[in-house]
Formats: sequence, C-alpha cells, structure tokens
Amino acid sequence: MSHDKVILVTGGSGLVGKAIERVIENDKGRFGKMEDEKWIFLTSKDGDLRSAEATRAIFDKYKPTHVIHLAALVGGLFKNMKYKLDFLRDNLLINDNVLHTSHEHKVKKVVSCLSTCIFPDKTTYPIDETMIHNGPPHDSNFGYAYAKRLIDTQNKAYHDQFGDKFTSVIPTNVFGPHDNYDLQDSHVIPGLIHKCYLAKKNGTPFVVAGSGKPLRQFIYSRDLAKLFIWVLREYDEVDPIILSVGEKDEVSIKDVADAIVNAIDFKGGYSFDTTKADGQYKKTASNEKLLKYLPDFQFTLFETAVKESVEWFTQNYDNAHLISFGNNV
Ligand code: NAP
Ligand code: GDP
Repeated sequence: MSHDKVILVTGGSGLVGKAIERVIENDKGRFGKMEDEKWIFLTSKDGDLRSAEATRAIFDKYKPTHVIHLAALVGGLFKNMKYKLDFLRDNLLINDNVLHTSHEHKVKKVVSCLSTCIFPDKTTYPIDETMIHNGPPHDSNFGYAYAKRLIDTQNKAYHDQFGDKFTSVIPTNVFGPHDNYDLQDSHVIPGLIHKCYLAKKNGTPFVVAGSGKPLRQFIYSRDLAKLFIWVLREYDEVDPIILSVGEKDEVSIKDVADAIVNAIDFKGGYSFDTTKADGQYKKTASNEKLLKYLPDFQFTLFETAVKESVEWFTQNYDNAHLISFGNNV
C-alpha cells in the first residue's frame, strides 16, 4: 500500500514517542492514524543520530515526507547539572543532523521539541513564545537550553534561506507511561513515583529533594501526543508554540508529592532534603496561543494522569525491559 505521508518520529521509544504511538494507534477521533499516513517510530538502535552518516542512512531507508523530532539527551535537574557538556554537544549534533538531513531530503515539514526550561532565568511571567532568546537560561541546565534554543534559530534560517517548513513546540514538564523512572537522573514525577513505591514496598524513607516550594506546570504525555499530532497536521507557523496546561494549573513540588502519595496509597510520611537543589523556582508559561487555535482542547486532570502513571509503573515494575531507568551518559 502506498502512503502520501511517511512520518518519521525520532526518539520514538521515549516518553513522548510512545505516547504519540499509542494515540496514533488507538484514538478513534481526529488524532488517530489517517489512511494516507505511514508512521515510523525510531529508537537509538536504528542509528545514533549524533552521527551524520547514521542519520543519512535512516533517511535514505525510510524516505520520510514529515518528521517529528523528539530524540535528545533528556534528564531531570540533577542529570542536567552533572553532564552540561554532554547535554550541549549531543543535542547540538542530533539536532543539526536531523534538520540538515531533513532539508537535504526535502522533507515537507519537521516539528522539533523545545522545552519551557530553556527560557531566560530572569524574566517576567507568564513566559510566552517570543521570549526564548531574551537572556541566559538557568545555570543548572544551560547546556541543554542553548542546544534547544538553536533549533528555533535553525528553523528560522532554513525557512528564510530555503523556505523549509521546520517548526517547533515548547512543552512544559512532561510525565506518563514509558518515562525514565531512574532514582537519580529522572524528572521529578517518575523519580518520586519510584521512591514512594519503594517506601511503601520496603519501608524505606520517602525523601523529596529540595524545599518542595518550586512551581511547575505538568502536561500528561498522552495530551501532549495529541497536540503534537495536531501541530504536524495543522499548525502552519515556523515560530514555536507552547504546549502547556494553563497558568492556574501550576502546582508546587509538594503538591506533586501529595498526589503521588495519594495515588500509591502510601500511609507513611515524607520529608524534604533541603540540602538538594531546587532548580528554577518557576517557569510559568502562557498557553494563550495554543488556546486561540484549540479553545476546546481537554487536558487530563493532573490527579488522573498521576494515577495512570503510577498504575503503569506498578504493572511494569518487574518487567525490567519495559521500565527505562535511563541511559548512563
Ligand atoms: P526520553 O524518554 O528520554 O526518550 C529519548 C528518546 O531519544 C529515546 O527514544 C531515545 O532512544 C532517543 N535518543 C536519545 N539519544 C539518541 C541518539 N543519540 N540517537 C538516536 N536516538 C536517541 O525523552 P522524552 O522525555 O520522550 O523527550 C522527548 C522530547 O521532548 C525531547 O526532545 C525532550 O527534550 C523534550 N521534552 C521533554 C520533557 C520532559 O519532561 N520529559 C519536557 C519538555 C521537552 P532509546 O530509547 O533507544 O535510548
Ligand atoms: P526541572 O523542572 O527542569 O527543574 O526538572 P525536574 O523534573 O527534575 O524537577 C525538579 C524539581 O523537583 C526541583 O525543584 C527538585 O528539587 C524537585 N525534586 C524533588 N524530588 C525530586 C526527584 O526525586 N527528582 C528530581 N529530578 N527532582 C526532584
């Protein structure tokens, strides 16, 4: 069967890639697979995208017409603080290879992935799409942040010089099934789910890093997946778009710990280790642009999404091959 659109998803085995695959395969409405689409989900086993040669071989093999570019070295606050150069170099190489090979292969549209943690540290709130380059990022993740910011610069350059339709999205903190649940290197929700699960199972103390006061907006990976699919099919700008829940849905790290305790039904208490870093206090982002395009989009309730993530983690805990405990850099 021939398809008009061959959509290549880099990083298809990660948190966001797996969520897109699930929505494409299961959604019965507007986000499900269309007849003229063929979706290909890559893992790092298909080739190391830090290598230009490996990237070219993948594009030669699949001949994509569209690309969702997710592959990246990704990690929570503590991993970002440890490996700043790796975050800068790996992501620069991966992004340059994917964008340039897409250009050479005349790919019709590329949607890459930035993050709200790449915005200037000293800023006014709420943050919006126009503010990416307005000042240095937080020192804890400047390697990742500068590599990601350059995607936006590259998109504009490819467009202005060649007319390429390369764009990007800016999600807030993402969580869900297939996340990296490593105890040290993961993001806060999967890290705390794992710690709370062990506290309940083994009677170990449940310790939350930092003061619990920082504020974050979290998006469930399955909601983000739907928005990615909409961006690929319908969003026509080169400029990025923030994909986030609203400002009123921002929660503290303490709220996160409480939601996890609830979902796991953990009866013990927990403490804060204030010797550990808090990272950025907040990075409150505006989803006004998104709501102008999709005023009726329904986000999953935070508590429901945490419960589904806990269920997925619990069901797969003994299946070591399904649970990612992260790549050692
Ligand atoms: P993830 O779960 O860590 O998955 C990363 C994906 O990238 C995996 O499929 C991995 O393949 C692949 N990959 C990593 N290095 C590679 C390489 N050198 N060559 C080829 N493939 C490579 O990440 P995620 O959380 O889904 O993140 C997806 C995108 O969203 C990233 O661009 C990230 O920056 C962005 N984002 C994430 C968050 C968040 O909170 N997680 C927030 C904002 C933005 P293997 O599975 O084979 O290793
Ligand atoms: P960030 O949003 O980019 O800073 O990334 P994270 O998802 O790593 O969230 C970091 C925030 O959660 C900081 O305020 C941390 O102090 C706090 N936190 C509490 N416990 C943990 C944990 O077990 N892992 C991580 N990554 N952060 C934690």
